[in-house]
Parts: sequence; C-alpha cells; structure tokens
Amino acid sequence: MSLAEAVKAAGVVGAGGAGFPTHVKVASRVDTLIANGAECEPILATDQWVMARHAGEISEALREVAQVVGARRVVLAVKHKYQEVIRRFRPFLDHDPRIALFELGDFYPSGDEQVLVNEVTGRVVPEGGLPLDVGVVVQNVSTLLNVHRAMAGTPVIRKHVTVAGEVRRPGVYVVPVGTSAADVLAAAGGATLPDFRVVDGGPMMGFLLPDTDRPVTKTTSGYLVLPPDHPVVQRRLPSPKAEHRLAMAVCCGCRMCTDLCPRYLLGHRIEPHKAMRAVQSRTEDSAHVLAMGYLCSLCGVCEAYACPMGLSPRRVFESFKVRLGAEKVPNPYRARPAEAREARAWSRVPKARLTERLQLARYVLPPVGEPLPVPEPWEVRIPLRQHIGAPARPVVRSGDRVAAGDCIAEVPEGALGARVHASISGVVAGVDDRSVRIVRR
Ligand code: SF4
Ligand code: SF4
Repeated sequence: MSLAEAVKAAGVVGAGGAGFPTHVKVASRVDTLIANGAECEPILATDQWVMARHAGEISEALREVAQVVGARRVVLAVKHKYQEVIRRFRPFLDHDPRIALFELGDFYPSGDEQVLVNEVTGRVVPEGGLPLDVGVVVQNVSTLLNVHRAMAGTPVIRKHVTVAGEVRRPGVYVVPVGTSAADVLAAAGGATLPDFRVVDGGPMMGFLLPDTDRPVTKTTSGYLVLPPDHPVVQRRLPSPKAEHRLAMAVCCGCRMCTDLCPRYLLGHRIEPHKAMRAVQSRTEDSAHVLAMGYLCSLCGVCEAYACPMGLSPRRVFESFKVRLGAEKVPNPYRARPAEAREARAWSRVPKARLTERLQLARYVLPPVGEPLPVPEPWEVRIPLRQHIGAPARPVVRSGDRVAAGDCIAEVPEGALGARVHASISGVVAGVDDRSVRIVRR
C-alpha cells in the first residue's frame, strides 16, 4: 500500500485547520515540505505538547512524506521560544541533515499557511490560492503524527485537545473522537465557575459552542472556558448587522485594520478599511468590495488588535463570505501578487501582547507537559463530516457491533473526503445523515 493509500485508509485530515484530506496533499509533487509547528493561537498548547512527546514519530513521518512528494527542501518550522521542543527534536534532526530547523518569531498568525510559506521560503501564495501553487506542501505536526500512525495501519480515532481557562485541571488531553465537550470538561475537573461559555478553538479564530453536547472531531484543537462577560466571549456575540451599524457610526477611517492585516501585508488586495468605508456609504454591494471577502482569512487581527474603535472588519467580511456563497459572485481576485509588502517586516503582531490584550495571560499553559487521556465515554457521536469535501457515507446500521478502529463511513465514490472510524468498541445506537452514535459495550 502506498503512503497516500495508507493515509486515506486511516482517515487522516489536517488536524490544525479546516480538515483538508491529507492523502490529497501526500499525492502532490512539490519542491518544499514544511512541518507546521507554529501554533500561533494564544493559549492553545496542543502542538507544543504533541511535538515534545512525539518528536521521533513526527520526524519519521516528515521524512516519508518528503520522499513521496519529492521535496528537496524539508523544514520543521517551530517558534524560537519553544526551546524544550527544539531540544527534543535535536537528536532526530542531527540524525537526518535533510530536515532543516526554521525558528519562527513569536507572532500571530505565524501558523497561517500563507504566512508560514512566506516566512520560510519568501514566496507569496497567490490570492485565492494554496501553498501548492508555489511548490510547497504544509503539514501540521499533529497531522504528521497521524500519518506516522497510518503507516502502521492505525486510523485517526483520538484527538489531542487543549482544555484551558476556567477549568480545574487545564492541560492537553487525548480524547476519543466523538466524545462530547461536556465529557472532556468533566475529565479536566469541570469548570471553576457556575456560569461559563466555551470557545471551540483558539480565542482568535474559534467559535462559541452553542452547547457542550457537541462532539470532539478530528479538527478540534481546544476548548477555552471563560466567564460569560469575558471580552473574547463578548466579541462573538454581536450580530453582523450590529457590526454594520457600528461601522457606519464610528469607523474613523484610520486604516490600522489594513496596515496590520496579515493578508494585505502579503501583497493581497484586501483593504478592510475600504470595506468599512463602503459599509458606511452603503456601497458594499460593489463587486470588488464584496469580493474582498474571498481574501480574508478571518484571522481576527483587525478586530482584536488593530482597530482603536473596537470594530470588527472580520465580522463584516464574514457576512460578505455568506453573501458571496449565496449569490455565487465570481472571484475577481486571482492574480498573483508580485511580492509581500515591505511593511510586513515591522507589522507582525507580538503574541504576548495579543494575549495580554485579550485578557488571557493568566490562562497560559506551560510550554511542555504530558497529555492526559480522557476516559472512554459511554457514548460517542461521530460526525460524518469532519473535513473539507463530501460527508462520509455510513457503512454500518443501528444494532451493528463495532470495535474501536473499524471503518464506519466511507468516502463517496469519486469525491474529496475522508474515512471515519469507530473511536470506541460498542454497538451502533443510531445513524443519520450527519453522524453515527455508538454506545459502549
Ligand atoms: S480577519 Fe481582518 S486582519 Fe485577518 S485577514 Fe481578515 S481583514 Fe485581514
Ligand atoms: S481600524 Fe477600525 S476605525 Fe480604523 S479604519 Fe479600520 S475599522 Fe475603521
């Protein structure tokens, strides 16, 4: 079985982002392979802890993937400040001089694939493009750990998840996929507050969990438990309509949102201050303004760091994206920018200052620790779509007995997607078009 076939059979998807099926990346041909160990979201420590614990497996998977994709340059990108992680990788890097270490600065969003590619190679991913367009594949380090397991025939049925904020035992946990957020929080000792909200993901790009019955997926990176009046929670509450009204009332046109926008700094033609001005003058329907939504990564720098008025161009672009999809607006921004803007060199957002500004400094975890297992729950609800592409098609029915690791849903014929496996042994208690429910035997 080829590496791409093994990775597909194991249902590996990008563990640190939107869940792009990894077998597609592994089947490409590029000159550069980057292992993404940047982990730039404040508070999340998942990748740091995974790297410290599994340096050998990650290095081996990196070598295998490099061979298959034909990469001449292989880079492990880790923040300079993760010295303990670097120390643990040293023996494996010394053993294989083909893998170069790239030490990143501590800024946000250094883990954004497009930013990372520019940092490491100096190349600029075209607007609306992928690293593949400039001959680069980026693999998150936790994904590489799953690739290593796939090489041994082990499917993705566990996920490393940071649990932090107002919980009794913050840390990184190893969770069976499909476990409810409530069970994960219970394993972390429960919340320290009677009333709290949970951010799924990091404080910059995560979203508020509507309820804690929601299951952990292959892409869940963390749960951040916060008081309901915390600014990170509050920023997620206003509706895009309210944001439009605010923009019309108080945007002073200072263009700080544009000057610090990581995608603008890469040379892309996104200018959030112009979008805000268009909202003010009710001209946002103009195709080139609306289509700027295609260029926004939703990184949140504009709302959490740049804007002195507390406005959120990010939310405005979020609403633009909804309209672009619904109205099928063509993307006029597909030209390749010549080069990143010079100002990039002095416009990176320091993560420590960002963490302070988000009022999260008290929740920072130690850089390295031992991930703890979450006990197998009585029941898991495993979503059929945990990845980009078509939902997986169930191959089990209610009443079937399954063992942990059994395939329960297949990639539809000819579609982009990923297999799904049982994360615990038990009986299938329900199947619908969104998930498979398994009850422990
Ligand atoms: S969220 Fe704001 S800062 Fe980030 S890419 Fe979009 S406009 Fe730029
Ligand atoms: S930073 Fe804020 S006030 Fe300044 S242009 Fe952007 S949205 Fe308007």
